[in-house]
Amino acid sequence: MKIGIDLGGSHIGIGVVNRQGKIIEKIETDLNLVKNLNIESFIIKYIVNNIKELTNKYKIQAIGIAAPGTPKNGKITTMVNLGIKELDITNIIKKEYFIPITIKNDAKCAAIAENKYGILKPYKDSIFICLGTGIGGSVFVNKKELSFNRNPGIEIGHMIIQKDGINCKCGKKGCFETYCSIKRLKQKLIEIMELPKNIQSEELLHILNKRKDEHKVKNILNEYIENLIVGLSNIIDIFEPQAICFGGSFVYFEEVLYKILVEKYYSKKYMFNKENIPELKLSVLGNDAGIIGATIIA
Ligand SMILES: [Zn+2]
Repeated sequence: MKIGIDLGGSHIGIGVVNRQGKIIEKIETDLNLVKNLNIESFIIKYIVNNIKELTNKYKIQAIGIAAPGTPKNGKITTMVNLGIKELDITNIIKKEYFIPITIKNDAKCAAIAENKYGILKPYKDSIFICLGTGIGGSVFVNKKELSFNRNPGIEIGHMIIQKDGINCKCGKKGCFETYCSIKRLKQKLIEIMELPKNIQSEELLHILNKRKDEHKVKNILNEYIENLIVGLSNIIDIFEPQAICFGGSFVYFEEVLYKILVEKYYSKKYMFNKENIPELKLSVLGNDAGIIGATIIA
């Protein structure tokens, strides 16, 4: 058995996963609820203490960690939302336990889980796109994840879809994620619907479901979908997958985004090859994908 840890910007999930990819025990906590505490030492204590309990209870062979950004040398380098610049999580755990530890980008972990056990299981060639704070993704060819020697690559979020467009934190302009991350969409919706900036996602979604037919709201949603299809068409023409699966917080917007996307997508307006266009799918493993994926790479 292995332990999978999903370390997100606002949440930690720790699970024990068996050989069949099933979570048999899971512990999780919401980091938004941790107030007046040093967040970094809270995360370390939470992880180390739970590993201790789980290794006492189960025979654990390895630990996998799904973390944001591009982890390097076992270190998490950017947890922007939490204000942590670098967290050497591998060495911290290694000081306490003699268990092999592997760490990988969270979107890539979710992709691997969806490919092995989830909705992408039947397809040889597929793409997973995580639409959340940013945009991440993975490409699978003959069931094997594409990766390269110098850097992991497949930075689909930083593919330019608008020349001289919006400034991206990567230093370029007009990147896919500056138009199609859920973070950006939320900001625009909050602005146009004149909602409080710190509104919780659940409440925003609730209001959006009621107000989705208002002209200005509809425009934002349509513009988002149009941009998403431009990005998709580029990705499809390069990789020719059989299926594309969407993960991340996009999944919660099934009613207001995914349904319009499917309608427009199958009109095939932007597709180069109009025959056999890839099937569109939504992630089925949801929040568990990171934990499960982390144990596949471990
Ligand atoms: Zn960029």
